[in-house]
Amino acid sequence: MTQVFNFSAGPAMLPVEVLRRAEQELCNWHGLGTSVMEISHRSKEFIQVAEESERDLRDLLKIPANYKVLFCHGGARAQFAAVPLNLLGEKTTADYVDGGYWAHSAIKEVQKYCTPHVINAAATTQDGRRAVTPMHEWDLHDDAAYVHYCPNETIDGVAIHEMPDFGDKVVVADYSSSILSRPIDVSRFGVIYAGAQKNIGPAGLTLVIVRDDLLGKAKGVLPSILDYTVLAENDSMFNTPPTFAWYLSGMVFKWLKEQGGLLEMEKRNKAKAELLYGVIDQSDFYRNEVAEANRSWMNIPFQLADAALDKVFLDESVKAGLHALKGHRVVGGMRASIYNAMPIEGVKALTDFMAEFERRHG
Ligand code: PLP
Repeated sequence: MTQVFNFSAGPAMLPVEVLRRAEQELCNWHGLGTSVMEISHRSKEFIQVAEESERDLRDLLKIPANYKVLFCHGGARAQFAAVPLNLLGEKTTADYVDGGYWAHSAIKEVQKYCTPHVINAAATTQDGRRAVTPMHEWDLHDDAAYVHYCPNETIDGVAIHEMPDFGDKVVVADYSSSILSRPIDVSRFGVIYAGAQKNIGPAGLTLVIVRDDLLGKAKGVLPSILDYTVLAENDSMFNTPPTFAWYLSGMVFKWLKEQGGLLEMEKRNKAKAELLYGVIDQSDFYRNEVAEANRSWMNIPFQLADAALDKVFLDESVKAGLHALKGHRVVGGMRASIYNAMPIEGVKALTDFMAEFERRHG
């Protein structure tokens, strides 16, 4: 039987080993006669899951001791509101770098809470490719409480690979679709947040990593469940946390450590991305419109030169066991999301299919 690979942008791409283990322990977790979903989040068994997952995440990302890790509800969009309400303090504005769909969505939300300085970072290279202006060209403002950007635009396939180096400015990043795909220097950030449902685990869990000197500034109107200080003081159990998503994410952290951690992930993700971009670039039949320096390693949109073939490509790719390649409606064409859980064999199967499709239709 042909092996099936799913290139969905989310929710969730989980390593098959994690799913198998979860399946095995589903009905009788830790010999308790129930699933992990059914036990109290305050039981010693679940507290162990919570503590271990935080420890493993800290190990993986080398999170410094002066950062809190919060396991929240609400997805990244809740953070679009939580960030200003937690961080603005006495200030009335923040810098928002607009480099794509999700950065733009965060800007729309923050406008409910302040008037941000919007830094338009969209750029075009001389050969007409889509790019983002380098960080040193971002015109940041002294009166801004923080600077917000999105390092990996899931829909546009545009990435900012640079690490920020803005002195004592508070940097906030929406890492939803690239967290844990390679090492990052957490100490460069004030807040990192990420919806879990792309590179980590199931929807329902959102990670927030926040430097502890940024706690305690929340606006009075901020709902308690979005208040970083309240969440930190309650070990992310101010209300019932998304326990099953948390448990599965914890298993993904262990899987990542077993694979060799984030340096190994970086190696694998680079190899997968190079393979796919290589096939796209060497033909006139396919194209990717993003400048090389800003190409995402996680979400790779590509177009067929003849859009009339899009439907045929999608029909035939499904028959070949390659699913969910349809591009986002905003961009069109195709998109292959190749998160940590996608093995190189999946990308190889895709590139083989693309070459063969080009031979038949080119
Ligand atoms: N930010 C990025 C980079 C995303 O990819 C997404 C969802 O795809 C979001 C934010 C919105 O996330 P959520 O659906 O968890 O609110």
